[in-house]
Order: sequence, then C-alpha cells, then structure tokens
Amino acid sequence: MAVAVRARCVFLGAPGAGKGTQAKKVAEAASIAHISTGDMLRAQVAAGTPLGAEAKSFMDAGKLVPDQVIIAMVQARIAEPDAREAWILDGFPRTLPQAQALDGTLSGASAVSHVIYFDVPESVLVGRLTGRRTCGKCGAIWHVDNHPTKVADVCDNCGGGLVQRSDDRLEAITQRLEQYRTLTAPLLAYYRERGVLREIDANRSPSVVYEELLNLMQ
Ligand SMILES: [Zn+2]
Repeated sequence: MAVAVRARCVFLGAPGAGKGTQAKKVAEAASIAHISTGDMLRAQVAAGTPLGAEAKSFMDAGKLVPDQVIIAMVQARIAEPDAREAWILDGFPRTLPQAQALDGTLSGASAVSHVIYFDVPESVLVGRLTGRRTCGKCGAIWHVDNHPTKVADVCDNCGGGLVQRSDDRLEAITQRLEQYRTLTAPLLAYYRERGVLREIDANRSPSVVYEELLNLMQ
C-alpha cells in the first residue's frame, strides 16, 4: 500500500535493531530514497573500487570506516534528484562528528526533520545478528530462527547461496555493539536537544513496528 512520507529521516539504533529492514519497507511504500551507507559501501567493495578496498579492511575487522569517506559518499547521494524531498538515512551518522558534519551540509528545507531511535535490549540484538544470513546473489536478508529459508542456506527469492557477512560473526558483533555504546549512543542526547528525536520500542514484531513508524514519521 502506498503511503505518504515527506520527512528527511535518520534511523538510529544498535546493529540488529531492525533499522535496515524497516527503512527498506518504508522507502518502497512511500517511494522515497533509502540511503544505506552499509549497502553503498558493500557495492563499492563488490565493484573492487579503491574506496571499496579501503572500506573492506575496516569492515572485515568489525571497525567503522573513517568519517570523511562516508561523509563524502552520503553528501553525493543526497544531492541526487530522487533524494531532494525526502529520504531515510540508515547507518549514518554513527558518530557525533558525523552528525555535526551532516548538519553542516544540510540546512533549512533540507535539514534532518526526524530522528527515529530503534530501542532493543542488547541480549536480543546479539541473537538477531548471529543468526542473520544474507543472499550472496540478490542481497535478501534471512535469519536462521526468525526468518528462515525453506531450504537451509538457499535463498527463497532467487536460489542463491546464503552467506554470513563477516561483520555478523560473533567477534565482530561484540566489537560493533561496543562501538555503538561509545560512539553512537551519544547521538541520542544530541538529537533530543535539537528536538527531532522520536523513540520506538523495536523489540516487537516487524509489522507492529512498521505501523507505529509510519505515524512517527508524519
Ligand atoms: Zn537471493
């Protein structure tokens, strides 16, 4: 069903909070740009660009790609025609300097209008992330318990083989959650002060979260 959303949104939350899945769904329903820095980086890695090679060394180690690399990529994306009016930023900003750089780039009618915080307990996040499998062919996301394929390790959509992303392995997850606590969690106070923060209990079924999300984005 088509929905009307005219917001410039940042989806904020720990890895595994469901931001990516919801961003994709809302963006499709509302025909607005879904700007996933993770997907953009992985596309660069797959294409073997110099940026991709640089990014890969950080991602494989479960580390964040340096701010200036991501900022340049996002700025270029937001300047494209389909992202003039409304968009969802997913996976960015993740640090206070990134949030400040974004605010420095966007002002007035293009400024961030909504920041949605996806709240999920950490124990739940670990289970969601370690069970996550991604189709190597079409990029569909599955989960060994919560969203399994009919045949193990084979994508229902395209028949492609499933892989566990290197940053979804336990060691990398522990590091990503630690980075979230130290680098990303401070953004809540930053955006709360700006009066754009809205919170959602994301430890519920995806369809319930989706409905509430549409209301919060109005
Ligand atoms: Zn697939």
